[in-house]
Amino acid sequence: MTTALSKSWEHAVVTGGGGFVGSHLCTALLATGAAVTCVDDFSTGRPENLAPLLDRPGFRLIQANVAEGLTVERPPDLVLHFASPASPADYLRLPLHTLDTGSLGTRNALELAHRSDARFVLASTSEVYGDPQQNPQEERYWGHVNPVGPRSVYDEAKRFGEALTTAHADAEGTDTGIVRLFNTYGPRMRGHDGRAVPTFVRQALDGEPLTVTGDGNQTRSLCYVDDTVRGILAAAADGMRGPVNIGNPTEITMLELARLIIELTGSHSEVRFIDRPTDDPAVRCPDITLARDKLGWEPEVSAEEGLRRTIDWFRARADR
Ligand code: NAD
Repeated sequence: MTTALSKSWEHAVVTGGGGFVGSHLCTALLATGAAVTCVDDFSTGRPENLAPLLDRPGFRLIQANVAEGLTVERPPDLVLHFASPASPADYLRLPLHTLDTGSLGTRNALELAHRSDARFVLASTSEVYGDPQQNPQEERYWGHVNPVGPRSVYDEAKRFGEALTTAHADAEGTDTGIVRLFNTYGPRMRGHDGRAVPTFVRQALDGEPLTVTGDGNQTRSLCYVDDTVRGILAAAADGMRGPVNIGNPTEITMLELARLIIELTGSHSEVRFIDRPTDDPAVRCPDITLARDKLGWEPEVSAEEGLRRTIDWFRARADR
């Protein structure tokens, strides 16, 4: 099942477009014929993610912190708010920046959408479910989050962002949508960003031990970035308010993932068990019934295929 992008946009603003998911979104939107303005402060993103786009007609890059304001030359008809540190290593290093981006940055992106009469989509996260007491997680589940734990700067910023988005729609009539992304992986992740897939791939390719936290029985559900981007654009086009889960419901334990990456890379690396971070969720799996029924969306890329493409990309990079 391939979701049709039933709407074509004239001008999309993508905050965080210099990051992993955002740069794939910019690429996909340009391919539909939309003009794209990317706004990014490169706090965690990389200019090289956008290198192939810089000369493309209709593409514009503004280097700015969205928490400090957001103005663009031409009104957009779509605002995708993806700016935010996303990997635990990044948001633990940038706690106040993460909270500012999720609060002030989301407010600024909403105001831009409202005054431009544009559709707005917030990148939320499965982290709003915290360490869930229900598996899989459906959108009606309210979550289990520690508001003062180390991960709270991210989880609560996103929960606040969802509340702000909902209030803006109710109070101002802004056309909003919320996508709750589950773990996404693929080319352009950073080998040292601390997330499981790039860490394991880098370690396997470099012949280092793969560092699995705890006993490795905690699960994640991994969605290949092309599938995630297709789901985000389907939610944008549909006009739904959400929140809607966008993720791959195939669960895998971290130990299984490490072994699969060792197999696919042909590495001789071993697995080394290390301490598990505080408040690390034990399970994480989306219920995607809503996305399937309302958007006709579901993931298409298998873990083997997505990991092969990711491994090929990392293998070609000397600086991984
Ligand atoms: P990323 O770190 O690669 O990208 C985030 C981008 O936002 C970076 O380019 C960074 O420089 C930019 N940014 C951060 N703060 C900013 C600010 N104040 N002003 C301007 N730019 C700023 O992370 P990603 O994995 O691509 O995640 C993108 C979005 O998707 C985030 O909002 C994240 O919360 C959400 N998300 C991602 C995943 C995933 O698995 N990748 C899962 C759930 C949600």
